[in-house]
Formats: sequence, structure tokens, C-alpha cells
Amino acid sequence: MGSFLNVLIYRLPREISIVVPRSFCTNCKRTIPWYENIPLFSFLFLKGKCRVCGVRIPWCYPLVELTTGLVACLLIPSQWNLENILVFIFYFYIFCAFFVHFIIDIKHRILPNSINIFLALLFFAHSIIMRDWIWWTSGAVIGCGIPLLVTWLFYLSTKKVGLGGGDIKLYGALGLYLGPLGVVHTITFSCFLGAILGGLWILISKKGKNEPFAFGPFIIIVAFCQIFFPEQFARVLFFL
Ligand SMILES: [Zn+2]
Repeated sequence: MGSFLNVLIYRLPREISIVVPRSFCTNCKRTIPWYENIPLFSFLFLKGKCRVCGVRIPWCYPLVELTTGLVACLLIPSQWNLENILVFIFYFYIFCAFFVHFIIDIKHRILPNSINIFLALLFFAHSIIMRDWIWWTSGAVIGCGIPLLVTWLFYLSTKKVGLGGGDIKLYGALGLYLGPLGVVHTITFSCFLGAILGGLWILISKKGKNEPFAFGPFIIIVAFCQIFFPEQFARVLFFL
């Protein structure tokens, strides 16, 4: 999976098919044989370089593979039955989608539609079984509605587009799972985090305040805490 996530991270923003061509060196374009494409091991074996052209393989590739593997280990259920397997797949897929979104947004400042659709379908499948339809529809409507309204008002007053479409769609998808109140928390906390860390980033990087920066990672950090650490998140809310 980690290896596949690397394929998504490289190909989705470049709009290359994720099926064909087979894995290739991004420098010399030669097809990589299977034995040079074994997660982690090949990177160590090749000492982080393409065997033919010698270009450095970025360290983020093995890091994505390692992180994905570690998270899968952490999520593995203690007992294997159908319910536990479904729960494992559900959370592991959420993690994978978040991880791909996070890295692509930092690198390219886009949240690919395909990942947003994947998340929406995953959350929808969960909520249609576990929740009342009013709960998840209102979550999705509020998740899209509030950011859309804020972006529109911001545009009217400044003639600048604040949030990207990908951010708004991501909020909408999250609303399906987190419900109306949950997604309001996501919006509030991510904006708060974005304002603090984004402000710091502008100070440190000495970029102008009009320089756009990726907002998706803030949404993902907050949603990650809400979904994977719901009790701790509720406790934080309690103190505020
Ligand atoms: Zn090469």
C-alpha cells in the first residue's frame, strides 16, 4: 500500500494514469524491474539511487512506505473476524487517503478530486449503515455550505479566492462521517490552526502574506485527531 501511495502522490497531480505505465525512473524514464521495486528493501539495496542513471531517489519514497507499514501494524486488530477486518480496512483507507492528500497538497497545493470522492464514498458507506440520514446529509451540507459562504463573502470583500474547491469538497466529505456538529469543529479548529501556523510560516519563510499556502494539511490534522482520537478530542473540547 505504501508503494501504491507513492504512485498516487507522484501521478495524481501530474494527471498520469495510475495503472499504466509501470513504475519508471522519473529521471531516465526507464521501467523499473520488480526486484528494484520492493518497498524499503530496494531503496536500501540501491543505496537510494537509480541503478542506471544514478539520480537520487527522494527520501520521501521510503518514508511513505515505512509510515504506511507502521500505521497498518498499529491498526491491526487483536482478533480476526469479519467486523474487525472491516473496521481495520475502513480506518486504514482513511489514513491512506489523508496521507496522500496531505503530501500532494504540500507539494502541489491541490487536493485531488479522486481522493475526495474516495473519502466521500468511504464515509457514505459507513454513515448509511451506522447513522440516521438527516445526520449525514446535514453534515455534508454544513461541511460544504459554511466554507462556501465564507469563501464567497471573502471574495466579495477582497476580490480574492480564499479556500480552494478541494478544501470545500474535503469538508463536505468529512461532514458525511463527522456529522453537523463534528464538521463545524473541523472547520473552526482547522481555520484556527491555519491562522496560527500559516502566520508563523509567513514570518519564517519571509513570504508575502498574499502568497498562497496549502490549507488542506490543517483540515487533515484536525480531522485525523477527530477520527482516530475521538475521546481525546472530546476532552480537549470539554476544556475550551
Ligand atoms: Zn534513472
